[in-house]
Amino acid sequence: MGSTAKTIGKFRLRNKTVLIPEMNRIAAHLIAATFRSFDINARVLPTYKGLDLAKKYTSGKECFPCQVTLGDILLYLTTEQETLGSAFDPGSYLYFLPESDGPCRFGMYNKFQRMVLDSFPGLDRVKIFSITTTDGYSLEGVIEQQRMLDFRKASYISVVVADILERLLWRIRPYETQKGLTDDFIERSMRQMESFFEIHAAANDFGNILNKLEEIIKNGRTLIDPAIPTKPLIGIVGEIFLRMHVHSNQDLIRVLERHGAEVVNSSLAEWVNYITYGQLRQNKINFRLNLKQLNFGRLKHHLQKIISFGGDLFYQEMRQKQFYNRATRLIDFKHDHKMSHLERLLQKEDIFTFDVTTETCLSIAAILQFAEEGYNGVVNVYPFTCMPGMTTSAIVKPVMNRRRVPYLDTPYDGSLQPGRETAVSTFMYQVTQHFERYGRKGRIQPHAA
Ligand code: SF4
Repeated sequence: MGSTAKTIGKFRLRNKTVLIPEMNRIAAHLIAATFRSFDINARVLPTYKGLDLAKKYTSGKECFPCQVTLGDILLYLTTEQETLGSAFDPGSYLYFLPESDGPCRFGMYNKFQRMVLDSFPGLDRVKIFSITTTDGYSLEGVIEQQRMLDFRKASYISVVVADILERLLWRIRPYETQKGLTDDFIERSMRQMESFFEIHAAANDFGNILNKLEEIIKNGRTLIDPAIPTKPLIGIVGEIFLRMHVHSNQDLIRVLERHGAEVVNSSLAEWVNYITYGQLRQNKINFRLNLKQLNFGRLKHHLQKIISFGGDLFYQEMRQKQFYNRATRLIDFKHDHKMSHLERLLQKEDIFTFDVTTETCLSIAAILQFAEEGYNGVVNVYPFTCMPGMTTSAIVKPVMNRRRVPYLDTPYDGSLQPGRETAVSTFMYQVTQHFERYGRKGRIQPHAA
């Protein structure tokens, strides 16, 4: 493989079709709608149908999300190639696959998938559009400078709205008046929101989006049967792809609901905030270091970064709070965690640190927060052999044992694990005992409407 600089990285999005993998279904669709609002053609890739194809080009040692996303893009492109024949233009596509730095393999997905795509005739011309955590997902060069800030803001809001629609789903579904109503309702609501983002995102008209969200919540809460008693609450943490991709985690939330739980998954915005917070934090550290060394040239650079990332974080948390406040005036579900609070929790417990930049610090801190908030159990979801997932497990298990909060690890690799059902049943037995003994903090009325 030669240099990948020309085929992986940031490219102008104009006049291309951006292919977005479906990690989180709602978020993928709202992000694609946001792209379209800015006159960028974007499509969400169908997911989990190409796993067999991916397995032909992988050894089994890769991280499971890498296999799943590889299957999605390979199946899509080869099908397009076959269907369109000579009209198929690989150069017109940009495959969206972000990357991260840090001590795990996510940064290698795009390089590996590049090698596989290059082995298919014609697909070497499909570029991989990759934004990176290294610069806090900067969009420099991908869209016109004067629209970049609006695009960033709208993309972030699409993530927050997707998170809220998901919280609505998990809040209503365990209490729905009729089985299946909530899934249909959320699917329709997602489609309506998609149209709203297409129309309003580019103008940053978030008032209209908020009003629509309120209307959806008001309609959604009518699906709750007030006669169903409050259920034990479980929090989910873990590797972001696995905990959000319902096919890969074998619809874990629905499984837990079937066993009598109400579930809250950690959000997608948490990850975006974490990246911004991490950049701010690192630049503060570098600033202090350069100050000690009297390196004034670098001081200015870090100061500019502190102001820039500090501004981004302030905006993100302010908007996130605004949207959650409007939503929770109408229905009671949990707000998202603030990054600085999570780091303080971790420092207080002194069991891990934000200095190690993987999802481990987020997962451990979120588990501690769930325990403080009186959740009745916590599940850690991760791909089989995922290093941050296993580190979380090793550190957190004894802490949860001490605190007597039920805890479950659920690694996945696409196969059906024979012991899984028993493990979930045993966990749910402990969760129910915890619920009977301690109840649930924070639910003021059983089903506030
Ligand atoms: S977080 Fe886990 S699954 Fe993701 S790249 Fe790292 S090791 Fe692989």
